[in-house]
Amino acid sequence: MNILEHIPLKDLTTMRVGGTARFFTAVRNESELEEALRYAKAHSLAIFVLGGGSNIVVSDAGFNGLVIKNEIYGCEFRDEEGGALVTAGAGESWDGLVEATLQRGLWGIENLSYIPGTVGAAPVQNIGAYGVELKDVLERVRAYDIETGEAREFDRGACTFSYRSSYFKETKKYIITSVTLRLKKDSMPKTDYAGIAQELADSGYGLETLSPEEMRRTVIAIRKRKLPDPSETPTAGSFFKNPEVRETVYKKLLETFPDMPGFPTKEGYVKIPLAWIIEHVCSMKGARAGDAHMFEKHALVMVHGGGARASDIQALRERIEGCVFEQVGIQIEPEVQFIGAF
Ligand code: NAP
Repeated sequence: MNILEHIPLKDLTTMRVGGTARFFTAVRNESELEEALRYAKAHSLAIFVLGGGSNIVVSDAGFNGLVIKNEIYGCEFRDEEGGALVTAGAGESWDGLVEATLQRGLWGIENLSYIPGTVGAAPVQNIGAYGVELKDVLERVRAYDIETGEAREFDRGACTFSYRSSYFKETKKYIITSVTLRLKKDSMPKTDYAGIAQELADSGYGLETLSPEEMRRTVIAIRKRKLPDPSETPTAGSFFKNPEVRETVYKKLLETFPDMPGFPTKEGYVKIPLAWIIEHVCSMKGARAGDAHMFEKHALVMVHGGGARASDIQALRERIEGCVFEQVGIQIEPEVQFIGAF
C-alpha cells in the first residue's frame, strides 16, 4: 500500500473545487482496502472513499484524513433462467457497466444510462432516472465495516433504500467493494416519463421492437441536451434532491402557484421538481455566487466556469436553500455530498 500526502482532490472530482487530502491511497482489491483501514485506525484518521468524484464538493480546506480511492475493478456475468446476475467491482464506471449489460441484451438498467460515477457509488444514493431506481434490480452489495474492518453482504432489504438514499448514505459506516444486479432477458421498457415517450417517438423507435440499446440512446440524447458534460464544464450534476411534501402541503402551494408540477409518490406524498421552483418561484436559474452559477438549461444543476472556490458553491447553495424556504416553506437538501469542513 502506498500512502501519499497532500494530494489535490480538485482534479479527482467533476466539480473541480477544493483543497488537498492530508493522506491518500488507491486500493485495487479487498486486501489493500483492509490494509488501508488498518492504517487509518492505527493513526486515528477519518476516512473518505472516493469513486468517480461526480457527486461531491470538497472544502477549500481539503480533507484532514485518509482518502481511499476505490479502484476495485472486474465484472462477472452469471447466466440464469430468464436473465443474468452481474457482479461488478465498486471502482468500475457505472455507465460502462450499463453498456456492457445492454450489449448482452439484458434489460433493467438502460434508463440509468449516462449517469456519471462508479458502481460503488450507485447503491449509496440509490441512483435513479426516468422511473427506474437501482433498488429495482439490486440483488446484493458487499461492503466493509470501516470500524471493524470486516466484510459483510447486504441483500436488498438490508440496504434500506429510499429516494436517493440508503443505509450506506445514512450511516457512512461501510465501504462498498462490489455490487450484484439481477437483470432480465425479456423486454421491459419503462417509458412513462414524458420526455422518454417523446424522444422515442421522435427517433422512430417502436415499443414492440425496442432494444435496450435503443432505450439507452434515447436516455443519452435527452441527458446530453439538458445536462452539462462534466468533462467540459465543472459540475456535480443535480445539486439538490427533488423535495417530497405531503399532498395537503402541495395542494396549499397550488393555491399560490397553480402551475407548480407535482408527482404523487408514496401514499399522501407528492414529489415536486425543484428545478421548477428555482426557475419560476425564485427566478434563480442562472443565479451566481462568484464563478458558480445555476446552469442555464437546467436550474437544478450547479456549474462553474473553472474559477469557483468551494466557498462560492456553498454561498450559492445557501442562497437557493434560503429562497426556497422563504418562498414555499420547504427545507431542501443537497443531493451532493460536502467533504471536509464548511
Ligand atoms: P425531470 O425528468 O424533469 O423530473 C423532475 C422531477 O419530476 C423529478 O423529481 C422526477 O422524479 C419527477 N417526475 C418527472 N416525471 C415524472 C413521472 N412521469 N412520474 C414520476 N415522477 C416524475 O428531471 P431531470 O432533472 O431532467 O432528470 C431526469 C431523470 O434523471 C429524473 O428521473 C431524475 O431523478 C434523474 N436524475 C438522477 C440523478 C441521480 O440519481 N443522481 C441525477 C440527475 C438526474 P424522479 O426524480 O423520481 O425521477
